[in-house]
Amino acid sequence: MTLHVVEHPLVAHYLTRLRDRETTPDEFREASDKIITLLLYEATRDLRTRTYRMQTPLEETDGHAIGDRVVAVPILRAGLGLVGPVLELLPHVTVGYIGLERDEKTAVASRYYVKLPPDIGGKAVMILDPMLATGGTAIKAVEIMKEYDPASVRLVCVVAAPEGIQALQAAHPDVQIFTAARDRELNAQKYILPGLGDYGDRLFGT
Ligand code: URA
Repeated sequence: MTLHVVEHPLVAHYLTRLRDRETTPDEFREASDKIITLLLYEATRDLRTRTYRMQTPLEETDGHAIGDRVVAVPILRAGLGLVGPVLELLPHVTVGYIGLERDEKTAVASRYYVKLPPDIGGKAVMILDPMLATGGTAIKAVEIMKEYDPASVRLVCVVAAPEGIQALQAAHPDVQIFTAARDRELNAQKYILPGLGDYGDRLFGT
């Protein structure tokens, strides 16, 4: 598995807006959209393009179109907040949804809702979950997606904890992780430190 920590001044700026406890839900959503767009730039770098001849106003030249098909899969609930920039940026993208709940005692995640587009086989799956904490949810989501035989699976998250990275790496070494930050650790309640709090709560004002 490859971990891509996207280092860029704009990513650092918007991540700080997300971390700041004074940031309002409106500002949080705006910073979230921007940082996801920047992460997508890296997370789509290896997509293949198709070359074809086309006309500019002046002459014929080679044009390029995205050849790979991407299936974006937000994990409910916070992953929903990541879908907007994905729909805006990625051509021909389709979207599936996975809802997982965690057993508080065993920390094992199980599915309560799965709604996916047809024909995932051979496509590039992009799981959207902003906080990679213990890794339990991400591991289960990848496991579900692999049932459909995709060409590749990648995870886009905003903040990743070392514990989650390690767990996902051990369970699914082929999955690439794209994140804005590798934070220090989890606290006793499994929140990421320094983190930014509960992404879903901050995004939706709950
Ligand atoms: N989910 C969140 O929203 N925040 C964390 O810190 C960990 C999991």
